[in-house]
Amino acid sequence: MPLGEFDVIARYFSRSSTRGDVLLGVGDDAALLMPAPGHALVAATDTLVEGRHFLPGTPADAIGHQALAVNLSDLAAMGAEPAWALLSLSMPHADESWLADFADGLYGLAERHGVALVGGDTVSGPLVVTIEVLGFVPPNAALRRSGARAGDLIIVSGAPGVAAAGLEELQSGRATFESKDARVRRFLRAEPRLALGRALRGFATAAMDVSDGLLGDLDKLARSSGVGACIDLERLPLAPELEAYPLTEQERLVLHGGDDYELLFTLPADHFGYIEHLAKAGGCSLRCLGSMVRGEGVECRRDGAHVNIAGTGYDHFAS
Ligand code: ADP
Ligand code: MG
Repeated sequence: MPLGEFDVIARYFSRSSTRGDVLLGVGDDAALLMPAPGHALVAATDTLVEGRHFLPGTPADAIGHQALAVNLSDLAAMGAEPAWALLSLSMPHADESWLADFADGLYGLAERHGVALVGGDTVSGPLVVTIEVLGFVPPNAALRRSGARAGDLIIVSGAPGVAAAGLEELQSGRATFESKDARVRRFLRAEPRLALGRALRGFATAAMDVSDGLLGDLDKLARSSGVGACIDLERLPLAPELEAYPLTEQERLVLHGGDDYELLFTLPADHFGYIEHLAKAGGCSLRCLGSMVRGEGVECRRDGAHVNIAGTGYDHFAS
């Protein structure tokens, strides 16, 4: 007997949450939620389409994790605290072992960050996963892309590029989804930087998460802020996981790779020591890449000399 829509919801997407601000979750026509008084509601949504945002054959738990992680990363980049999520799931069949794994991946991440799944929609169709997350931030503390000023330091968390290396290994067949390879693991199970995002409230002048590659995303941040950016390539954080790659490949992965959910932000220089200390206490390294400058665009330098690097991020509609 194939599972019906209501069995799918009841069996896989009705885990209870401990959040007191959920008056009514999954099961009625809509959820009833109590926003935190005095806070701005922060909303983000992202859709993952099989074959476009994840490779066919991706383990279901990784899809569940990623679908929520991309959204939580957007909230992290706003300095927000996530609270609730809605899941819209289109799938060709209701495969029970797939659903169990998908739900484990999704709830695993949700529970680590205190997020309640409060509703959604379940339909048959091609495999497409849309999640919407809602969270809170004190209205004046939200981190935007637009506040960077000339002279601010440009900082990136962690070591972007590792996930992109994992993706390339999967695409080329050098690794499989089951591989213990650290790059593949990072690609499938990267953790959004929620604690860092909250720590940046009141300090960072601008912030965003790196989803399309450091260089392209820095260009977006600079444009939004109406200033330019100048980074020194010798300062790029090169992850130990990329050690086996030639240096030019490491640089390419760091500058153009996405999927690590790292944060890119700007900070007045006198705050860097304190923020670095906070980040380190939370197990997150930071790297200063350069500074914002008057003008526009992103300039890359090597040993003080200008270098030309073509490359913006991923654009769905670019041919
Ligand atoms: P309606 O037909 O009134 O829109 P549905 O039958 O689509 O209601 O959904 C019933 C309940 O189950 C609703 O509370 C809805 O939010 C929830 N729901 C449906 N699909 C999902 C899902 N994939 N994840 C979480 N909640 C879901
Ligand atoms: Mg419905």
